[in-house]
Amino acid sequence: MQNKKVINLFREIAENPYDYLRKQKTETGKKMIGSTCAFTPEEFIIAAGAHPFRIFGESESLSGADAHIQAYGCSMVRGMLEDGLSGKLDFLDGVVFPHACDSIQRLSDIWRLNIPSLHFDVLLPVKLDTPLAQSYFVKVLERFRKDLEKTLDVVISETALKESIILMNRMRSRLKRLYELQSEKPGILSGSDLSAVVKACMVMDKQEAANRLAELIDVLETSFTEKKIKRILISGSVCSHPDIYEMIENKGAVVVWDDLCSGSRYFEGLADEDTEPVQAIAGRFTERYVCPAKHLGVKFQMENLKMLIKQHHIDGILFMLLKFCEPFSFDYPDIKTELEKMEIPFLLVEMDRHNEVDEQMRTRIDTMLEIL
Ligand code: SF4
Repeated sequence: MQNKKVINLFREIAENPYDYLRKQKTETGKKMIGSTCAFTPEEFIIAAGAHPFRIFGESESLSGADAHIQAYGCSMVRGMLEDGLSGKLDFLDGVVFPHACDSIQRLSDIWRLNIPSLHFDVLLPVKLDTPLAQSYFVKVLERFRKDLEKTLDVVISETALKESIILMNRMRSRLKRLYELQSEKPGILSGSDLSAVVKACMVMDKQEAANRLAELIDVLETSFTEKKIKRILISGSVCSHPDIYEMIENKGAVVVWDDLCSGSRYFEGLADEDTEPVQAIAGRFTERYVCPAKHLGVKFQMENLKMLIKQHHIDGILFMLLKFCEPFSFDYPDIKTELEKMEIPFLLVEMDRHNEVDEQMRTRIDTMLEIL
């Protein structure tokens, strides 16, 4: 398949994820298991013969969710609940709630009481840098495995688990290679295309995703860009506004990397294929980049940002704060102080998942790009 065709396929799935999933269910008969966060151990779901996917909160407006979550709750969580209440997820069999932040934990309770589906809580450790975190994580994953086995009436064999680790690693490595290509040859893909590819991979059958990624990479490895371009990093929780990428590109800049749950945090880190499978999955979660809802040492978030700035020769950073996301807001003041010392241009924009990018925000982003 040619470059454009593969990208269009990813875009179509990213734009209509639930249509794709409904069709998958009809064609494969697999149970559809949604997840609410990048901390979901998808390997177990695949090894159980089910289809994992990310619930994004596709509803344009909120009505049912407002009766359960206050307006000052995270809009991503409210959007996911709206999808469940409104019947958009009519193909859904179960949902996994990794206890990442308070908002997702409360969503789990509300969902259990209001939406009939299989329910899996994964009680993650909060601190990941303690000697007990790894062994606790292994216990949590073993319990999740048993829950899946009991609820779906299957046995998750060691062989199936190892195979799903290899498959997920393959897909993650290819997503990472795609990002590396964007960093090596900025603008080789538009930011909105790249973001659509990651989103589609969170939904697709993982083997299909890995195959399509390989096709895309083959073409891009031999493509070139000549442009001298300002290199931007986007950091935050999620970016659900593809027009931000276009706005940046119209100003002669390009997003060469991100630190987002809807981006690199989905694929960063591989599970060790030579280690016992449950240990390997736990190891990946405790060692990879983590979101601000988890603790990996007081300096982790800043050190991680510094590394990304250096590795990808970043000229400016756009922080996208999803309104009312407390974990991110707690980290930001320290990050701001450090970046000011480093004299690297940055801008924080507060967004609501369901609001359009308004003129005021557009002007602020344009101004930052102009001063780079
Ligand atoms: S964006 Fe923030 S508040 Fe919302 S689910 Fe993620 S960590 Fe929780």
